[in-house]
Amino acid sequence: MKFDVIICASGESTRMGENKLKFDVGGMSVLKRSITAFYTLPFVKKIIVVTKKEEIDFVLSAINGLDKTKFEIAIGGNTRTESVKNGLQLASAAGVLIHDAARPFVSQEIIEKVAKSVEINGSGVPALAVNDSVRLVENDKIVGGFERDNLRFVQTPQGFLTDELKSCFTKLAPNESATDESELYARFVAPVSIVDGSHDNRKLTTMGDYLGANMRVGIGYDIHRLIPFKKLMLGGIEVEYHLGSLAHSDGDVVIHALIDALLSASGELDIGSHFPDNAPEYLDIDSAILLSKTMEIIKKKGYIVNNASLIIIAEAPKLADYIPLMRIKLARLMGISYENISIAAKTNEKVGEIGENIAIASYATVTLV
Ligand code: MG
Repeated sequence: MKFDVIICASGESTRMGENKLKFDVGGMSVLKRSITAFYTLPFVKKIIVVTKKEEIDFVLSAINGLDKTKFEIAIGGNTRTESVKNGLQLASAAGVLIHDAARPFVSQEIIEKVAKSVEINGSGVPALAVNDSVRLVENDKIVGGFERDNLRFVQTPQGFLTDELKSCFTKLAPNESATDESELYARFVAPVSIVDGSHDNRKLTTMGDYLGANMRVGIGYDIHRLIPFKKLMLGGIEVEYHLGSLAHSDGDVVIHALIDALLSASGELDIGSHFPDNAPEYLDIDSAILLSKTMEIIKKKGYIVNNASLIIIAEAPKLADYIPLMRIKLARLMGISYENISIAAKTNEKVGEIGENIAIASYATVTLV
């Protein structure tokens, strides 16, 4: 069976402040990612994107490079029901799949399951079990409950026989609307068949959903030998001690580990590639300057630092008094708040080179959004 796909992309994004479908998820817009999931499937005949008039150029940019003859654009209405109705008028394949553009992580496996269910049962909707208790509330008081075994969260794509879904809309009173198509189909045609949904197929509703979706993690590590007659720089702060780090730069292991974590999270090569340790311009350089240069690289790629978590491993000296200063300094250099950078210091229990005070090391993890 062939399917037309209706991508609902005319929502208001009121909870996000701006059009969330334009946000970048893994190098493409949310809308493009949703479209791409359907585009390559052999049973998909046509993709109808329902959008607002003022977003037509954005939709065209999202399908740039794809076969334009596979696409049509419909203009959305004031409600989801109206928007789907407008899209449905352009649908002509035997089956239709209706998908929220704000669910960019839909897998082709789910789409195939829904399509198969339409072929066999006439309908198919991905559904998830409800694990939390759901209660009926009146005037801020719980007055009743539901048997959660009988409840499901429903997702998209929702699949139907095109003619049957079209008939639902003709039976709907003017200005009457439904939350989704499964509600309409169950009311006017028959109970809707469900298939297993997925927690990955979540809808990006709040900024938190989006940030979580786009999170990148990086890890960094550095170790330097300790020698006399050298300053000990850690986290951009000079620590009073009779030994310091042997290095081409100022030897700040904390900042070096942090730089590697930042570069790693943003998909860049490591610190040695960006700031070679034989380049004369980096001789004895303040590592804070290298961190600032790294932040420029990160910013250019469109990332911001969400948080950083660091460990310093040193047998001596005691670092507790310096840690707040390091956090202030590093937070300022990265343009994040103090609470979003944590630093722990620990000894190596006298084991190995670090334990014998021959070297000092640091680990860093960061998340970028
Ligand atoms: Mg280093």
